[in-house]
Amino acid sequence: MQNHKNLEAIVFDNRFTRELPADPELLNVRRQVVQACYSRVTPTPVAHPQLIAYAPEVAELLGLSVEPADHPQFAQVFSGNRLLPGMDPFAMCYGGHQFGNWAGQLGDGRAINLGEVVGANDQRWMLQLKGAGPTPYSRTADGLAVLRSSVREFLCSEAMFHLGVPTTRALSLVLTGEQVVRDMFYDGNPRQEPGAVVCRVAPTFTRFGNFEIFAARNDIETLRRLVDYTIRNDFPHLGEPGAATYETWFHEICRTTADMIVHWMRVGFVHGVMNTDNMSVLGLTIDYGPYGWLDDYDPNWTPNTTDAGGRRYRFGHQPQIAQWNLMQLANAIYPLVGNAEPFQLGLQLYAEKFQEDWRTMMARKIGLEAFDPHTDQVLIEELLSILQLTETDMTIFFRRLASISVTEPMADLLPGKKDRSAVETPSEGDSVEHNSARLAEAYYLPNERTAEHEQRIRAWLRNYQARLSQDGIPDPIRRTRMNAVNPKYVLRNYLAQLAIDKAELGDPSMVATLLELLRKPYDEQPEREEFAVQRPDWARRRAGCSMLSCSS
Ligand code: AMP
Ligand code: MG
Repeated sequence: MQNHKNLEAIVFDNRFTRELPADPELLNVRRQVVQACYSRVTPTPVAHPQLIAYAPEVAELLGLSVEPADHPQFAQVFSGNRLLPGMDPFAMCYGGHQFGNWAGQLGDGRAINLGEVVGANDQRWMLQLKGAGPTPYSRTADGLAVLRSSVREFLCSEAMFHLGVPTTRALSLVLTGEQVVRDMFYDGNPRQEPGAVVCRVAPTFTRFGNFEIFAARNDIETLRRLVDYTIRNDFPHLGEPGAATYETWFHEICRTTADMIVHWMRVGFVHGVMNTDNMSVLGLTIDYGPYGWLDDYDPNWTPNTTDAGGRRYRFGHQPQIAQWNLMQLANAIYPLVGNAEPFQLGLQLYAEKFQEDWRTMMARKIGLEAFDPHTDQVLIEELLSILQLTETDMTIFFRRLASISVTEPMADLLPGKKDRSAVETPSEGDSVEHNSARLAEAYYLPNERTAEHEQRIRAWLRNYQARLSQDGIPDPIRRTRMNAVNPKYVLRNYLAQLAIDKAELGDPSMVATLLELLRKPYDEQPEREEFAVQRPDWARRRAGCSMLSCSS
């Protein structure tokens, strides 16, 4: 790692605190903060910080070198115990709509931004500690985070990045050496859990809620300052801020948000808490809380027990919710434009782009050259309906689907047979039967599959094979393409929980193993097959594996 710096040499250039209005109050007490974008606040020192995992790629982005000898120093800085020269720590003021209702001021209740790093290639990155103590925005909570939720945030941020999903990143995971009390299911069973701090990294952590708070307070002056700042610094390609730029800016947020959601739908990710304070203005996945990954494909599934009643944030509802959230952002910026039309256009743009990109994405998932509306809408809808007839593992299914054969000779064709045409057009019934069998690994309850299921999957395979023949892409090429969009390895909820169980007992090795595994989610990793199998039966109802709460 040549030219990489040690911690002391990181260069900070803190535009956010330099250019935007600050809360004049410096006392760290909970309060309403008005006419200010942030409050200066220092992290609360912890007893025995210990670095238990870090992402070398993220260190590299910052231009940092991390040698084993640096770990204690690293732990001091990324627990918040020691500030580096040039850091200017602060918590942001924002509001948000939570579960559909305006919630007023929220803000960084347990996140403290340390400063903006000018990293490799002059790219800028905000460093943010999550769980480093209370801020003026902590309301009734403690500002801390536990190991359980920190492992989940650390691993998922990096897993999403390597899957190609827009996301905030995670640099490090540090144990604080202190205990934190949590009542995981809010049911009167509090327990002590190890405290931890994750250092998150993103160009900016600005959320929809950062704009909403000023609009809600009718503080148009501060709203305009934040919007102009954001356009100048995070969207410089849009040009100088002004009425026309506000429109193009909103349209861009609609597009990047659509792109992010299409990726979530591709990999089977359920965010779990799509409140407007958890929506990044850059279209990045942000705030990994009670998120989950679909094991069996079920559009109605949500991992979040807090949302179990209305299932507002269920997998299949995410596209609509993102649009609803964009509408709240539109309402917030509206006073700067005074005309609803460009916003309506933006929301429509979102819907159109989502639909178009979703179709393209689904076509790629099943290995088609492009989405053909005449045939593929029906083909894809029927597939998604079949996946719900019996518990079918989404990740395994699409991976196995790549292995079906269309152009290969039939296995049962006798070597002596010379009939070339029979080789190239295999007898249909047999082929469908073989191909159907290739999908068996994806079913959770193979013995409970119905005749209807087998009949519909075979009929579907017949249509699908015919559709593939139209494209005429040779099987090996189609397979390679499909495997590049259908991950083999995702952060299954139970895998994250196993890593947490071990880490809580003092062994963080599985966090490192999963980080390593998830660096190459599309590759076959034959020595790590055990991480690509179905969720085991014991995980079906276990906390952390199929149900999560907001308590973190
Ligand atoms: P979330 O649903 O996790 O995005 O959090 C919603 C709001 O609650 C945000 O303003 C968070 O900063 C705040 N919050 C969540 N957990 C804590 C905590 N342990 N201490 C202080 N604030 C918190
Ligand atoms: Mg949040």
